[in-house]
Amino acid sequence: MASNISRRAFVARAATAASALTLPTLANPAPISSRNLAPKDSDKEVLDLAIVGAGISRIYSGWRLVTADPASLRILGRPVSTGRPLRVAVFEGSQRVGGRLLSARAPDLAAICDLGGMRFASSHKRVVSLINELKLPNHGFYTSHPQNHALLRGQHLRVSDLNNPALLPYRLTPAEQECVRKNGSNVLIQCALIKLLPGLAELHGDELFTYLQTAEVDGTPLYQHGLWNLLARTMSSEARSLVQATIGFDELGFNWNAVDLLMQYLLHTPDVTFHALDGGYDALPWVLQRKFESAGGEVLQGAWLDGLSPQTLPDGSVGVELHFAGECPAVKARAVIWRCQGGR
Ligand SMILES: Cc1cc2nc3c(=O)[nH]c(=O)nc-3n(C[C@H](O)[C@H](O)[C@H](O)COP(=O)(O)OP(=O)(O)OC[C@H]3O[C@@H](n4cnc5c(N)ncnc54)[C@H](O)[C@@H]3O)c2cc1C
Repeated sequence: MASNISRRAFVARAATAASALTLPTLANPAPISSRNLAPKDSDKEVLDLAIVGAGISRIYSGWRLVTADPASLRILGRPVSTGRPLRVAVFEGSQRVGGRLLSARAPDLAAICDLGGMRFASSHKRVVSLINELKLPNHGFYTSHPQNHALLRGQHLRVSDLNNPALLPYRLTPAEQECVRKNGSNVLIQCALIKLLPGLAELHGDELFTYLQTAEVDGTPLYQHGLWNLLARTMSSEARSLVQATIGFDELGFNWNAVDLLMQYLLHTPDVTFHALDGGYDALPWVLQRKFESAGGEVLQGAWLDGLSPQTLPDGSVGVELHFAGECPAVKARAVIWRCQGGR
């Protein structure tokens, strides 16, 4: 949020004045049928790369690929020796670029409300470096003020109380109480893990991530353990309940692959700071869209991919033909980036 209004208050207000809510306008509304991408028998009409979906990840990929030196590029392991800039197009099923980054602006409020992704962390190194490179103005994003409320097992506490085991309605072991006193309840996971993986205590940043990928417990790679199965060995069930109630990310409470969850957890430890873009998070894909297009890429909206089929291309190589819903004509490409949807 760029100004002093909560997301919930904004959404409630926007819902009652839905007709007045200004959602992002289309930067590139031309329908695919107006573009010159219909398959023809000429090699010129074949895309080097078709990218499906104009969320941040694929707009970014498109921009990086059209601005890269073709001599240094490989597609599916094969060199791309076209001697010309790559022909790359992004096909977006909806009528907007940005996917799960959506910043809404209500005309009667100065606020910008991010309805999807809202903040980036100092530990999101690539995002931080991209935002710095693009010089996008941003500000600190705070979620854990000491005076914030924490309702735990019916007790009304403040975030500042989470360092005081005497106030917490959980029966923690003496070692857990000591950990909470020093570091707060969020760090109980680290205190429990260090008993299993003592090497962890000395490591930070990339070294820590590399260590987690190769670490083993009882001769079994860490990634083959469920995180909470492991933590149950060194953490009381009361501490687990406290962590799960206060950590702020439901997925961290699930018993998934310990490496994936720990990476996620370590991206949100207390030394990590959060930031938000002044113009809303969807400013990022929009800026990238403009850069992608000015470097020769194309973004086609209203192009919902229905399926792919292998295709022999005019030069005899094997590529793909993309088939779209509705009236959109099929398109041939040497390679395609398409990710099945999943996750939040
Ligand atoms: C409520 C919420 C809060 C979040 N908070 C944060 C946060 O604070 N910080 C953070 O870093 N992340 C956050 N996230 C996650 C973040 O928004 C996503 O990880 C990120 O936006 C995903 O980008 P993407 O490009 O991978 O996919 P998406 O943004 O999902 O983009 C996929 C695009 O592909 C299109 N598409 C899909 N299938 C087809 C098809 N067959 N044909 C054509 N087009 C297709 C879709 O229409 C969409 O535009 C949040 C997400 C949500 C929903």
